[in-house]
Amino acid sequence: MWRGLWSLATRAAHWPHRLCTRQSSGALDPGPGATIFALSSGQGRCGIAVIRTSGPASGHALRRLTEPRNLPPARKASLRLLSDPRSGEPLDRALVLWFPGPQSFTGEDCVEFHVHGGPAVVSGVLEALGSVPGLRPAEAGEFTKRAFAHGKLSLTEVEGLADLIHAETESQRRQALRQLDGELGHLCRSWAETLTKALAHVEAYIDFGEDDNLEEGVLEQADKEVRKLEVALGAHLRDARRGQRLRSGAHVVVTGPPNAGKSSLVNLLSQKPVSIVSPEPGTTRDVLETPVDLAGFPVLLSDTAGLREGVGPVEQEGVRRARKRLEQADLVLAMLDASNLASPSSCNFLDTVVAPLGTRNPSGSSPRLLLVLNKSDLLPPEGPGPCPDLPPHLLLSCLTGAGLHGLLEVLKKELAAVCGDPSTGPPLLTRARHQHHLQGCLDALGHYKHARDLALAAEALRVAWGHLTRLTGGGGTEEILDIIFQDFCVGK
Ligand code: GDP
Repeated sequence: MWRGLWSLATRAAHWPHRLCTRQSSGALDPGPGATIFALSSGQGRCGIAVIRTSGPASGHALRRLTEPRNLPPARKASLRLLSDPRSGEPLDRALVLWFPGPQSFTGEDCVEFHVHGGPAVVSGVLEALGSVPGLRPAEAGEFTKRAFAHGKLSLTEVEGLADLIHAETESQRRQALRQLDGELGHLCRSWAETLTKALAHVEAYIDFGEDDNLEEGVLEQADKEVRKLEVALGAHLRDARRGQRLRSGAHVVVTGPPNAGKSSLVNLLSQKPVSIVSPEPGTTRDVLETPVDLAGFPVLLSDTAGLREGVGPVEQEGVRRARKRLEQADLVLAMLDASNLASPSSCNFLDTVVAPLGTRNPSGSSPRLLLVLNKSDLLPPEGPGPCPDLPPHLLLSCLTGAGLHGLLEVLKKELAAVCGDPSTGPPLLTRARHQHHLQGCLDALGHYKHARDLALAAEALRVAWGHLTRLTGGGGTEEILDIIFQDFCVGK
């Protein structure tokens, strides 16, 4: 079943603005020996708040706040009285966890303080930590950056973690969790291994030529591996846009002649009054877009002006924008008034919008189409009258809700096709960066095939391998790291 709203506004609300400071290039460099601390749970009054530290002075900081007691056993929750080391003033009775590196999230010595979540307790503990020499407040994303720097997470896993923190729909959560579990990274590493083998074969041939000691057919073996890899990469790249849609929302556009019930449908699906519903034709004149969680998928739902000719300049502009938005759609919900199918506006819409979309190659870049006949409550019991050219359609009444469940079921299947199903199939490519490197790898394999000599062929394999390695973070440039870590907030 579909759930509540998928709202970008909620996302902003989860992360208080002052915690989301973006980092300039290099600002996250921890510097040697720095120990960082931050509140890692959300801001505001709550039952428990988690404050953590990472760095060599973590153990010292824990001892200072829990004096006279020593460090608790590693990775076991222990109850301790926390006091301000400057005044000895008690701050809270808290659970503390001591994670000596490298068996910790960041790979460094870490401490977690699970304190009572009142603002005075949290700020008291943060101030007390700030007074311990060698400790400083963490920058946004700094814990995760350290985890990456110490090889605890690959770059694709870091991206998965960022997506998991921001996931607002079920499908986004599933996808992010799979990426955090390292599925995309594993796949890339297995591809990189294939390339390493192929490269070893080519280099062996360069070194030993037709030498007797060399296994027969090494070059053929390398060719075979490269061909297999090309097929796998090609299949993944064909799917590339699906993962990106899953991450940032699929574009679903509602279109139809005036008064078909487009605004009513948008309001029904988004469960809020996005558009004005009125019997007066031509009320929606601009594209109205709203983010929604549709059947568990993130969607940007657009209400558009009713498509009709011969209207005033403002509505004409609305119609032009509606047509433009249709070109950008991933899925089109074409709507007609079921009780008015024989009207000129319905026939014209079927001929000029539905028929061309329905006949386009579905494997191409054209959007998928769902024809919805609304106002089924106005129909006689035997259904819509004879209409020979009517393509497959769904019956709906926005007024009574009849047919809504069926529409949502179909939408779920359509969106799974548009976004990819995150619970099955190969890992999706959720970022343009992934696509760029896979394409780069594929191009390099093309150069391998057409290389004039073996040295150039080996070089092409090295370039292809480099792209796969950069995808998971090996040899990543500081610039890319900064872009990815911008998605994190302080404490993560
Ligand atoms: P739009 O111009 O396509 O956006 O259509 P609206 O959503 O503004 O609806 C036009 C008119 O049709 C309004 O008076 C709605 O109340 C009415 N309407 C919408 N859906 C239904 C329906 O399922 N049944 C009936 N009887 N009226 C509907």
